[in-house]
Amino acid sequence: MLDQIADVIVVGAGNAAFCAALAAQEQGASVLMLEAAPEAEAGGNSRFTAGAIRVVYDGADDIRTLVPDLTAAEIGTTDFGTYTAEQFYDDMGRLTQHRADPDLVELLVTRSFATLNWMREKGVRLIPIYGRQAFKIDGRFKFWGGLTVEAVGGGPGLVAMLTQAAKQRGIGIRYRTRALDLLQHGERVEGVRVRQDGAAHDLRAHAVVLACGGFEANAEWRTRYLGPPWDLAKVRGSRFNTGDGIRMALAIGAASRGNWSGCHAVQWEMNAPEFGDLAVGDQFQKHSYPFGILINAAGRRFLDEGADFRNYTYAKYGRIVLEQPGQFAWQVFDQKVKHLLRDEYRIRQVTKVAANTIEEFAQKLDGVNAAAFLATVKEWNAAVRTDIAFDPNVKDGRCTQALAINKSNWANTIDTPPFEGYAVTCGITFTFGGLRIDANARVLDTDDRPIRGLYAAGELVGGLFYFNYPGGTGLMSGAVFGKIAGASAAAGAKSP
Ligand SMILES: Cc1cc2nc3c(=O)[nH]c(=O)nc-3n(C[C@H](O)[C@H](O)[C@H](O)COP(=O)(O)OP(=O)(O)OC[C@H]3O[C@@H](n4cnc5c(N)ncnc54)[C@H](O)[C@@H]3O)c2cc1C
Repeated sequence: MLDQIADVIVVGAGNAAFCAALAAQEQGASVLMLEAAPEAEAGGNSRFTAGAIRVVYDGADDIRTLVPDLTAAEIGTTDFGTYTAEQFYDDMGRLTQHRADPDLVELLVTRSFATLNWMREKGVRLIPIYGRQAFKIDGRFKFWGGLTVEAVGGGPGLVAMLTQAAKQRGIGIRYRTRALDLLQHGERVEGVRVRQDGAAHDLRAHAVVLACGGFEANAEWRTRYLGPPWDLAKVRGSRFNTGDGIRMALAIGAASRGNWSGCHAVQWEMNAPEFGDLAVGDQFQKHSYPFGILINAAGRRFLDEGADFRNYTYAKYGRIVLEQPGQFAWQVFDQKVKHLLRDEYRIRQVTKVAANTIEEFAQKLDGVNAAAFLATVKEWNAAVRTDIAFDPNVKDGRCTQALAINKSNWANTIDTPPFEGYAVTCGITFTFGGLRIDANARVLDTDDRPIRGLYAAGELVGGLFYFNYPGGTGLMSGAVFGKIAGASAAAGAKSP
């Protein structure tokens, strides 16, 4: 192959792609990464994240391994708890209604700690998520929900550290270079056709890793596979994830896999732009709904805001908001819980109303039937089990009773002004359907045979997530399967 550009080409430059590139380089392969975005917008959805990563750990010692610069004072004032492999398996099983591929889940769970530690060794610095995943009780931070560490600097920090790690190791990155098609020699994938600065040309390699995201930023595919009205959803992250990797692989006979009609979608600022804004990042999300109530245009509640910890409900509630008339809802809080609202409620780009009486507040909720809303609040206040203590750190069982839709935890009366409302719509994060891979991250064809020279990792892998998703698993899945894909591709590149 005369014009071969590298042993391994990695398509994409998000978390999964960097992990693949670093793993391939570690095995001695020369690696070139292709990124559709210009450098200023590079890094995919990974860059939009908070950098929170779900990982199995056994107490403070494991956290200290991941975060070596933790101080004795921090360790002394923190209850990190544990997040066992059993809990991770249970979360994946329960949330995906036991449809997740057990072989993929086993790799995800059992390799999570070692993979994150490997990323740390490559230069990714981590810290505990004191702000969002721990509440302070009696002077001690207590972590909850199995999500305990994040990258320093969040998603932008993660991408910057991974980019630096790649560049230090001689891995090339071509920005503004969109992969269009896979090149084959016989049955073997031997490169990609790309478009760079308006011109198409071919780049050849011994192996190709696809790590270029799902189809969340493609309105036509969203409508085609998720159904209407998904064309109306806002895109939380990168505008570059338009399903190219999936399309290219299917075109040469790859098998599809997973929940093609499913996706991760959250409550998102109603007036947010069509795609993510790197200056705002994930702050358009509105994740404190477990402490309030959600109201639709008809002035009614329509889901159990306190069904579970936020980490286990947020990814499926975007869809339910999208299904409401006008595709919007108002999150309503009173003064009693205001101190629990996350930072994202205090950004400038927020659609917020406040009032000192509930009647005045009802008039301010744009698009909502005010009389029906007042009736809902009256009925709500009478239904809250105020005899049960409110505790935001545990599923407190402080519920409502006898409502058509009850709240299971964290129910509080709405009676203490000022009242606050935040308008939300649906923001899609990433799609669940994708390609079928095996335990070596090789892409399988429709006859279940590996397509020679083709590997995949990250969002475009199907079979892991169905219906719902435990927060922080996207980065971990990209890391685990990226690392496997990179190592396999390097090994594959050496074989004839
Ligand atoms: C706002 C937001 C917050 C999130 N928060 C978290 C969190 O805290 N924790 C967590 O675990 N997950 C989070 N997620 C989910 C997480 O971002 C993804 O699961 C994960 O980053 C996916 O990584 P990836 O490498 O597969 O894709 P991406 O990071 O999206 O990378 C895909 C890359 O491929 C490039 N690309 C696309 N098409 C082409 C093409 N044809 N040619 C070349 N390049 C191409 C893109 O430009 C991009 O660089 C969040 C997502 C969003 C949007």
